[in-house]
Amino acid sequence: MKFSDFANILYSILADGKNTDEFTQELFLNIVDYPADVDNKVENRTLPAFKSYFNGTRSIDGIAKDINKYIEPEVFVSYINGLPEGTISNLCNALIAYIPDINLYNTAEVCADMFKKILFNAANIKKNKKTTLIEIESGACALSDIIKQRYGTRLLVESKGLCPNDNCCRPLYINANGQTDMNYEITQINPNLPPDSFANLIALCPDCSKRYLLAKDDEQMNRMEIIKRHLISEAETIEVLANTKVEEGVERVLRKISDTPMMKLIPLSYEPVSLREKILPENRSLYIKAKAYVTEYYPAVHGIFQQLSKERKLRFDPFCMQVKMNYINLRDKGLTQPEIFEALVEWLASNTNDRKDLCEIVISYFIQKCEVFDAITE
Ligand SMILES: [Zn+2]
Repeated sequence: MKFSDFANILYSILADGKNTDEFTQELFLNIVDYPADVDNKVENRTLPAFKSYFNGTRSIDGIAKDINKYIEPEVFVSYINGLPEGTISNLCNALIAYIPDINLYNTAEVCADMFKKILFNAANIKKNKKTTLIEIESGACALSDIIKQRYGTRLLVESKGLCPNDNCCRPLYINANGQTDMNYEITQINPNLPPDSFANLIALCPDCSKRYLLAKDDEQMNRMEIIKRHLISEAETIEVLANTKVEEGVERVLRKISDTPMMKLIPLSYEPVSLREKILPENRSLYIKAKAYVTEYYPAVHGIFQQLSKERKLRFDPFCMQVKMNYINLRDKGLTQPEIFEALVEWLASNTNDRKDLCEIVISYFIQKCEVFDAITE
């Protein structure tokens, strides 16, 4: 990105009534950290100069060279973090087209890093040492230990410690003599995209990484991009649901379902029409599963919820709302019905530490009860 593009985006959100020259000066003042006894080279520039940096009619190479010794991204991080939350969120939205892995929590760091890179590029500093790449035979890149330090943990969490490549699933760690050591390579997915962007990196086992880097073709690259998108989407799903703790008392429901003997279950006496009206025809296996659970368990689950609410051991309406809100958030994220079902079950299971099949019964109950999935419009 060019400096003038960067400055224009920031100006559209942070201007706060300032002129473009003042604003641009403010940006520069907030990316440097000059000791008191050193002449601040940003202050030496005139306002018209800043205006032409902003408009892109004058190159920033000169000022970038002048100040590069005192560039301090942390100052810029504080500058951005000092803004109101809503402003940071607007900034994040404005930059997401350029940096897919920007989010509300890293906006300040990402902006600071971007600004720093723009300045270093302008000053003709080839690459920040932190993102040095080690070239291997094929010309493809394996990333240095420093990239591992920066992204390793997040990539390992994202892949849940297992190699995400097709037909692999090997652990990305080795256990020996009671010690655990990590065993993975951070791999650049598309060599034509920036090597230090989280969205373009994936943690693979050393074998898969080597094979991929040595002999990837377009098809394999596309496949790896799809795998990465899945991982990102899964992580975002967890984030969407992480803020809703399951209403207290729900674990009792699960326990009671589990304690009800099969012979005591009274199957539903009517066809669960809502399910057919809400589960899309292409999601047949989800339909079959939910239908079986609803037919067998709907009256029992309904009874348990009623009874526990009456005994004030559970607040049924708030729990309904939770399920519904989670459903809406996942739907708005663009997840498919099976993915939504899976995410809701996972949410319930991890919050209650209970069995997944019991949670599937409860979520199926809510589909029939119309809290989850919308009626199919024809
Ligand atoms: Zn592997």
